[in-house]
Amino acid sequence: MPLPLDRPFTYAIPPSLQDRAAKGMRAVVPIRTRIETGYIVDLADTASVEGIRPIVDLPDERPVFSEELLTLTRWIADYYCSSWGEALQCAVPAGIQIRSKLRYVLQHNQLTTGRFTERQRKVISELYRRGPLTERQLARVAGATALSNTLRALVARGILRAERIARTGISVRTETYARLIEQHIPPPEDLATLQRRAPKQAAVYLDLLHGDPERPVTELYEKHGVDAAVLKALEGKSLIERLERAFFRTPEHHWDREEAGKHLLNADQQRAYDAAVQALEQSRFQTFLLQGVTGSGKTEVYLQVIEKALAMGRNAIMLVPEISLTPQTVGRFMKRFDTRIAVLHSGLGAGERYDEWRRAQQGDVRIVVGARSAVFAPLPHLGVVIVDEEHDMSYKQAENPRYHARDVAIMRARMNNAVCVLGSATPSVESYYNSETGKSLRLELPRRATNALLPEVAVVDMRQETRERGANVILSRQLEEAIQSRIAAHEQVILLLNRRGYAPFVMCPQCGWVAQCPDCQVTLTYHAKGGFLCCHYCNRRREVPQVCDVCSFNPLLFLGTGTQKVEDLLMRSFPDARISRMDADTTAGKGGHAKILGRFGAGDIDILVGTQMIAKGHDYPGVTLVGVLNADTGLGFPDFRAAENTFQLLTQVAGRAGRGDRPGQVIIQTYRPNHYAILAASKHNYEEFYQREIAQRDAAGYPPFRRMANLMVECEDPLLAERSAMALDRIVREQVRVLGFEGVEVLGPAPASVRRVKKKYRWNLAVLSKSAKRLNTIARVTREDFARNSLGDNVQLKVDLDPYGVF
Ligand code: ADP
Ligand code: ZN
Ligand code: ZN
Repeated sequence: MPLPLDRPFTYAIPPSLQDRAAKGMRAVVPIRTRIETGYIVDLADTASVEGIRPIVDLPDERPVFSEELLTLTRWIADYYCSSWGEALQCAVPAGIQIRSKLRYVLQHNQLTTGRFTERQRKVISELYRRGPLTERQLARVAGATALSNTLRALVARGILRAERIARTGISVRTETYARLIEQHIPPPEDLATLQRRAPKQAAVYLDLLHGDPERPVTELYEKHGVDAAVLKALEGKSLIERLERAFFRTPEHHWDREEAGKHLLNADQQRAYDAAVQALEQSRFQTFLLQGVTGSGKTEVYLQVIEKALAMGRNAIMLVPEISLTPQTVGRFMKRFDTRIAVLHSGLGAGERYDEWRRAQQGDVRIVVGARSAVFAPLPHLGVVIVDEEHDMSYKQAENPRYHARDVAIMRARMNNAVCVLGSATPSVESYYNSETGKSLRLELPRRATNALLPEVAVVDMRQETRERGANVILSRQLEEAIQSRIAAHEQVILLLNRRGYAPFVMCPQCGWVAQCPDCQVTLTYHAKGGFLCCHYCNRRREVPQVCDVCSFNPLLFLGTGTQKVEDLLMRSFPDARISRMDADTTAGKGGHAKILGRFGAGDIDILVGTQMIAKGHDYPGVTLVGVLNADTGLGFPDFRAAENTFQLLTQVAGRAGRGDRPGQVIIQTYRPNHYAILAASKHNYEEFYQREIAQRDAAGYPPFRRMANLMVECEDPLLAERSAMALDRIVREQVRVLGFEGVEVLGPAPASVRRVKKKYRWNLAVLSKSAKRLNTIARVTREDFARNSLGDNVQLKVDLDPYGVF
């Protein structure tokens, strides 16, 4: 059951369902007073418990989960500490669960008793006329919004009976078809008679006879200007029959199919292709890290490896970050593979999503392209699983089960003896480390495929601006001049405004110093309320410094907030430019994101200002300048991955400049021009970044050297939240002692950097260990212990293995 309880429930299979019930099927079952959908994970001849209740219904013809996906979801539940039911639930498209609702049935034999209110009479007469109805249906006809009291009163008097019925979120949609009955084709003379007596019937019939013998009725109505009576007449003569066919709500694609065809691979691409194909031909599980600068032709390699897999009778999954499911990317796939492809993205309605999923399950498609959850695509015979932009954080799911799609992709490939290709210009430190230690094979594409040069990157030292123009300058002179000249030349500009989360910190504008925790090597977060700085790993605190620790400059800058002013400033500085903003606010709603990019692509926008979402996956030849307004905000996040994420973001956004024939220019504004993440990004040098970063991780004991688990306590009451965090801390440390786990480190508890979310106060406790297994054990026993000793029902504990992002 999709509940947070990690144990299966036992139900009886009624005789009527006995020959259909199978492992992997959905089953509608009663649980307490409700009806819910669960999944059959095992069948047995006998039950060890008494008085088991029967299954209500099996809504599908066949299993929704293959043996492979059952095993995979079980692994996810184990590894990420969720229940199996939660893992199963997240592997099927949202919205297909069946829940129950109440329906009211009139008890005719009770009708004579008593007096009724006006409203009660209305309800009774409706039920009398139309049979059982739900509250919603009754409300509509009785013209009242809240009928609960009326209904409850009638039920209490025995006049109505409430019964539970199952209700599907989404159903299979069907369409009516007309089909020629081959055995009944009349001799020519009868057809001639039909043509004379009933020309309309004859026209439809001859069309079916000479054309496609099976056609949607709507198509026939339209084509021949006939109505249902004509088809009925033909049906009456046993010439045709009508049937219902399930049909797929194939989403409308507005993808641009103009994209050029297949390329002859260059030498680097060929080497990568050969390595992947060799493993594929040997049916050997192998993970590859395909590291190639933006525009090096990674996608071309994916396409050709997939093509090869299809030719060998195997199927493919291609994961991309949600944000890169742009018409451009998908268009390339559609162009190459046409109908054999299903695309899963968040713009689809629940019904469309479900249908795409079923097409994959039934073997109608061979390739599934989609964001995170497409890793569960029910394709049989997987040959390749590709994770594009493998470093992207959107692959990590934020709710239970908190899986990482990249790691699930590797697991799926392993289970299928398939090839997993992780592609990125800026691999995650974990993945690169794996390629160094032999867990995966690294393949490199060091040059752009089109021979376009990587853009020149200039780093503007904002400390210098401060000295000359005072603190808190938003736009340096160098960037301002560059924007002026690009606009004058009718070229386009992208400005990146780093604004992730809300974690203010203190920085010296004269020397670039940032207040850090000496133990955890992460930035201290500023808490305006208490007026102190705090480490979000270990809870170390210090007062807000008045002057810089290093150079004694004041006033210090408070960064990480308040960036709305930037757009106003730009409007004033460039009054003639067409400026648009792209962030979570302006792109809300279906297609909002694509709309802005469409206008930008068409040249209707001169300057596009945006958050990280503008950094990825777009290819606009008109862009010749990319400016990064505040590189430091990313570096200042209280997260051990802050440098990694900043390096990735800067490199990705730099890759947006100069993809056309004009060379590009990138300008990065920073107070920390000597930070290794910024220096390496300015040189497009991953290796240099990695060597510095991996040494830091090693020294501090962060992943990939140790695994991390984060335990988060949430509660609306701030005091109870804190006390629960302290209790959690005691439990964890006690468990570590009892289990005899040496080398396990516990950090915290500390209030989360975003202290309060949805009215709940949050505290974190991080646990580090070299052994994933030990972490897992600690997380499990801690959760049980914590539940037993919980300080209140309203205190929640969330367990996150391999956590990502700021917490
Ligand atoms: P990436 O996925 O690494 O960003 P793409 O596959 O999108 O790179 O390739 C970048 C550009 O180079 C695209 O316009 C693509 O059509 C082109 N391209 C890819 N491979 C080749 C090749 N072998 N020869 C010529 N052009 C290529
Ligand atoms: Zn200083
Ligand atoms: Zn600390």
